Amino acid sequence: MRDGMFIEKPRTEPDSVIDLHDGYVVAPFGEAHNHNFDASSPEGAKAVIDKYVTDGVFYGQNPANVLRAKQGLSPFINKPNSIDVTFSNAALTGPGGHPIGLFLRNLSRGGMLPTDTNTTSGFIWIIQDRKDLEAKWKGIIASHPDFIKVILAYSDQYERRLADSTTFNWRGIDPRLLPEIVTRAHATGRRVMAHVETAADFRNALSAGVDEIGHIPGFRGNEQGQMPDLKPYTLTDSDAAEAARRGTFVITTLGGIVGIPDTALRKKADAFFADNLRMLKKHNVKVIVGSDSYRTTSLPEALYLSTLGVYNNAELLRLWSEATPRAIFPKRRIGRLLPGYEASFIVLEGDPISDFANVKNIALRVKQGNVLTR
Ligand SMILES: [Zn+2]
Repeated sequence: MRDGMFIEKPRTEPDSVIDLHDGYVVAPFGEAHNHNFDASSPEGAKAVIDKYVTDGVFYGQNPANVLRAKQGLSPFINKPNSIDVTFSNAALTGPGGHPIGLFLRNLSRGGMLPTDTNTTSGFIWIIQDRKDLEAKWKGIIASHPDFIKVILAYSDQYERRLADSTTFNWRGIDPRLLPEIVTRAHATGRRVMAHVETAADFRNALSAGVDEIGHIPGFRGNEQGQMPDLKPYTLTDSDAAEAARRGTFVITTLGGIVGIPDTALRKKADAFFADNLRMLKKHNVKVIVGSDSYRTTSLPEALYLSTLGVYNNAELLRLWSEATPRAIFPKRRIGRLLPGYEASFIVLEGDPISDFANVKNIALRVKQGNVLTR
């Protein structure tokens, strides 16, 4: 490698040689959906970066953050010897929509401020209608988001849920606003990620032309964490074919279930998740790995996906180390160990194709030519 890039075999003697000790060299991993890319102090920033470097996850995407959390991390990231992360800043939702419940919880704990709605530095933009979107759009862009995050939740029932106070936090933005949001975002060179709960949300997101879908429908069940009726969450052949035709990325976020004991409900959820994932794979949808798990990196998500029996180890490795980083940074030459690509890789002690758990045994971490230490 030279100047942080892989090169063809050099004609001159290299100035240094690193022995990889018969290790298995793979491209670093990605995390397409996590809100833990945040920090309120330099120590906090160091802890976040250490956690990701440890797991070999060098590329991340934070789809909903307060601006100060990004500002706390920014001085330490997006450089050759650190992790690289993009941020949506505040998410766009409707009145009473997700994640206002999370916001109120954080507010009561002191983690957020009363001003964290409808300001250029807040956590949420509450958008009522077209006029409201028009009025707030300037402020949304003024926060310099890397991409736009918008919330759909049971969007086929938008009117009914808006009028029903018991659905507070289990609704999102008016889906009729989404095409205009996508048009506006694309006009500024930004991509759009949609949060979804149901297959109906998935359809509304696709037809509006979003670039990424933040979850696989049904990832967390209903308000009670259950799925008495699977139909609203089940992806069909035509859903998957349309996602493939449009080239929309779909982020997994299924591994949150790992904490749930091995009950009948857990087995039902595992089987259902596998069905939706299999449908996406059948149509070659661009599935990428993201956990939405605040305490961890995408490592437990990838390990969980490997238990579902949908993608084999080689396929899953490719999703996690090639497709995910390149989806987050589409303009960069990453995710390949080839001349002309960024010289970033990790060295595993064992073969991840024969045993996927070997992704945990990392002997060496190199980012853009820099050996990373923790
Ligand atoms: Zn999320």
